[in-house]
Amino acid sequence: MLNIVLFGPPGAGKGTQAARLIDKYELVHLSTGDILRAEIKAESQLGKEAKNFMEKGELVPDSVVIGMIETKIDSNLSAKGFIFDGFPRTTAQALALDTMLTKKHLSITLMLALEVDDDELIKRLLLRGKDSGRADDQDQKIIENRIHVYNKETAPVIDFYDNQNKFKAVTGVGSIDEIFGRLCNAIDAVK
Ligand code: AMP
Repeated sequence: MLNIVLFGPPGAGKGTQAARLIDKYELVHLSTGDILRAEIKAESQLGKEAKNFMEKGELVPDSVVIGMIETKIDSNLSAKGFIFDGFPRTTAQALALDTMLTKKHLSITLMLALEVDDDELIKRLLLRGKDSGRADDQDQKIIENRIHVYNKETAPVIDFYDNQNKFKAVTGVGSIDEIFGRLCNAIDAVK
C-alpha cells in the first residue's frame, strides 16, 4: 500500500491536492475534517460533540478522531493506499496511527508537508470562506486561532515522521499544477 500523510496548516491546499492525488494513484481519501463535517450535517452524537470544538478552531479530542479513522481504514482494507488529510494533527494521533497500522501490517510511506506562509494562508481561507459556507473560514479570529493551534499542537508531528526519515517538505505556493508536480515527484521517488 502507498500510504501518504498530506500535511500542512489550514489553507495550505491539502484538500485540493488530495483530490488530484487520489485520482492519479488510486488512493482512498481520508479527511478527518470532511468526516466531521458530514457527522455534523447528519446531526449524529459525534457531530454534536465535535461542533463546539470546530466552531472555535480548536482540535476535536484525539480519542474521537482516532476511532473515526480506524473505522474508515477497516472498511477500505483492499485499497491501494490512503491519503491522510488533516490527520494526524497531534503527536498522540501520529503514535496511535502507527500502532493501528502496525497491527494491520501496514505503515506510512511518506509525509508530504505543504509549506505556505501565514499571510497567504489567511488570505486563502477568507477567500474560501466566501463560497465554502464554512463558518470557521469566515472569521479572521477563528482562522488565526486555527493557525496558532497548528503551530503549537500540530507542527510537532513533523518531528515524529522526520525521525523515521519519512518527512518531505514541499513548497505550497505556485499554480495547482506546479504544486501537484512537486508532490508527484516526491511520491515517485519513494514508490
Ligand atoms: P480541516 O477541514 O482539516 O481544516 O478541519 C476542520 C476542523 O475539524 C479543525 O479545525 C478541527 O476542529 C477539526 N479536526 C479535523 N481533523 C482533526 C484532527 N485530526 N484532530 C482534531 N481535530 C480535527
